[in-house]
Amino acid sequence: MPVQPTPRPGIMEISPYVGGRSTASGHANTIKLSSNESALGPSPKAQAAYRELAGSLHRYPDGGATELRMALGALHGIDPDRIVCGNGSDELLQLVAHAYAGPGDEIVYCRHGFLVYPIATLAVGATPVVAPETDYTADVDAILGLVTERTRIVFLANPNNPTGTYIPKGEIRRLWGGLPEHVVLVIDSAYAEFAPTEDYDSGIELAGMAPNVVMTRTFSKAYGLAALRLGWAYGPPAIIDVLHRIRGPFNANAAALAAALAALEDQDHIARARQHNERCLGALAARLGAAGLHVVPSVCNFLLVRFPDESGRDAAAADRFLTERGIVARRMEPYHLADCLRITIGLEAENEALAQALEAFMTAPAAGADAGDDR
Ligand SMILES: *Cc1c(COP(=O)(O)O)cnc(C)c1O
Repeated sequence: MPVQPTPRPGIMEISPYVGGRSTASGHANTIKLSSNESALGPSPKAQAAYRELAGSLHRYPDGGATELRMALGALHGIDPDRIVCGNGSDELLQLVAHAYAGPGDEIVYCRHGFLVYPIATLAVGATPVVAPETDYTADVDAILGLVTERTRIVFLANPNNPTGTYIPKGEIRRLWGGLPEHVVLVIDSAYAEFAPTEDYDSGIELAGMAPNVVMTRTFSKAYGLAALRLGWAYGPPAIIDVLHRIRGPFNANAAALAAALAALEDQDHIARARQHNERCLGALAARLGAAGLHVVPSVCNFLLVRFPDESGRDAAAADRFLTERGIVARRMEPYHLADCLRITIGLEAENEALAQALEAFMTAPAAGADAGDDR
């Protein structure tokens, strides 16, 4: 046997992340509702800042992301020195795992939690510990029940992708209160801009006062800058210092920094994005519910929709039916939700096309739908 370089234990157990499909073959204008991207796109001011940067592509970015951190600090009323930017929040989640966990350590996350958590866990050789959920929602007691002296990190998306559900402020407090001090609680608030204000907490307060809580945020969702890859983390000085030490010196690129700064300054655009989402989310959920589908209550810019366990009417058949009509949703097998599709809120016309297609799917003769498809 020839000797081959061998990756560290855990790495070959990773199922590589597969993003949402962008196209449906044979359709020039695919309706892409597969990746929770912003329906409205970014602020025109962000686009202008991006274009303007073209004149100085030979310059390295500001490795400290100073201007953006100052602006984030001012907007959110937090200390810019306690912020670190990253190449998407994905990178920051990976960096926390790299810094605080390794072989023999455990990382806890929820059954239907974001896929980057298992990837980050296995990548550092740590052991994944998966907490069951209740009604597609994080269960604080289940998470706390799995914490041991080997636990190093708890990853929690609030609200969560792909379920769209959240746990209220009091539950976040209770989770933190039940964790030993050596455990880092990562509150991934990628959808905070869409979440309700009443009993929702992005984790910003806890991350400001607790020595073991980190909040991560992104410009990929409400801000509409997914292509540029920019996320940020806020937390205690000691943890932020650690993340700075291990990040790439220029991990947030200049185009992303410039566009994000302009996007941040255009809060009217974010308000419009939130209003659009609120309006469309409820209407689409009601319509799909009326069509006989189970829609998980969402506070995000997407819906998790459960299909009947019936040949020709299941999630796989629905996905084929939509694809044939040029609409791309997200299959949920990797999230242990094979009976569901995740559907991003799009523009009005896109949501209308989606609703009509699923209404047709639910009323079409099931046998015919199955026999006619081309697996
Ligand atoms: C989209 C998403 C992110 C990451 O986004 P980036 O593009 O890497 O900033 C993080 N967490 C959750 C739950 C997400 O859905």
